[in-house]
Amino acid sequence: MAVYDTNNIFARILRGEIPCKKVHEDEHVLAFHDIHPQAPTHILIIPKGAYVSFDDFSAKATPEEITAFTRAVGAIARENGLAPNGDGGGYRILTNIGNNGGQEVPHFHVHLFGGRKLGRMIAKD
Ligand code: 5GP
Repeated sequence: MAVYDTNNIFARILRGEIPCKKVHEDEHVLAFHDIHPQAPTHILIIPKGAYVSFDDFSAKATPEEITAFTRAVGAIARENGLAPNGDGGGYRILTNIGNNGGQEVPHFHVHLFGGRKLGRMIAKD
């Protein structure tokens, strides 16, 4: 399993060394707008703990961290008006893991996309 790089960009955001447009913070979780949004709403949700990816998080995080993270993802979607409502609303969550997953920042994060129809699944290339 990969070793956590304490100088990755999200670690620096967590330490307050780099600014972010924060949308949510609690004991275990920070969420902020992606710097290059790919949908009308594009929020990054990260645990405060030092986990490289979902692979690392799912293996090592405490039940409290996992619960807090899962609850936060749903709450942030609702707070940002993305919850499904009748025929409207809805959103996508995505996490890239490692090389094949196309992960660029080695601190576990979930992308939350919404605000338009997002098409189906993943790019074919
Ligand atoms: P990944 O490819 O690792 O799943 O996604 C990394 C995401 O982080 C990208 O969508 C990229 O736009 C975003 N990102 C990279 N650097 C920064 C930054 O300094 N601030 C913010 N808010 N987002 C960033």
